[in-house]
Amino acid sequence: MSRLATPPRRTGLLVVQPLRRKQCAECRGGPLSLLVLEEGAPRCLDCADLGHLVFLPRGDTALTRRAREESALSAVVVRFNRRKARYERQGVLVEEQALTRAEMRCLADAEARRRRRSRDARRRAAEDVRFTDTFAAEIRRLFPGCPAERAQGIAAHASVRGSGRVGRSAAGRALSEGAVFSAVVASVRHLDTPYDQLLMSGVPRHEARRRIAAAVERVLGGWRATEAEAG
Ligand SMILES: [Zn+2]
Repeated sequence: MSRLATPPRRTGLLVVQPLRRKQCAECRGGPLSLLVLEEGAPRCLDCADLGHLVFLPRGDTALTRRAREESALSAVVVRFNRRKARYERQGVLVEEQALTRAEMRCLADAEARRRRRSRDARRRAAEDVRFTDTFAAEIRRLFPGCPAERAQGIAAHASVRGSGRVGRSAAGRALSEGAVFSAVVASVRHLDTPYDQLLMSGVPRHEARRRIAAAVERVLGGWRATEAEAG
């Protein structure tokens, strides 16, 4: 039984990668790496008038589709998989110019995608700046005595996690009074108290927080007052 006698029926030309050594029934050339079956007999690509086509391996779906669109003459290349007992697509044969045009179209797409990504990144950066400014303003509203650059620093830190990147609703949640308060407290803990040293020296977190609670309250109390009042 010849497996090559029953390749799948598809629309268009079919070219086979033979598993066994085959010769062209017409010019006797071979062994053939690719052949066309005409009435059950193998023909080399030259005899089958497909010799001018180039092989495009499977894998790039968009490129394959476009190369076939651009090519007046094209063929699907298949090989029989013994283990799976079926023909498997290996790629296509297309005109070289068609492949070139298809590659240019895909490159243009890639360039368009790159430009879009770059625009998105710029827009996100702008959103991050807006978010940071809004967050800083909220800190200053709740803590008028907090120095402006300190508020900006806390806000910048918070915006790394809570910016427009995670969506408007998440950004809105991040700007709630609770979230702003938490960000300020965390900053005070780490920068204005020995909290980090306590943790490093093995003091349990809750005990460390208990020890610094008064210091945190002092700083926050000062910041709640306006800068003028705080002197
Ligand atoms: Zn031949």
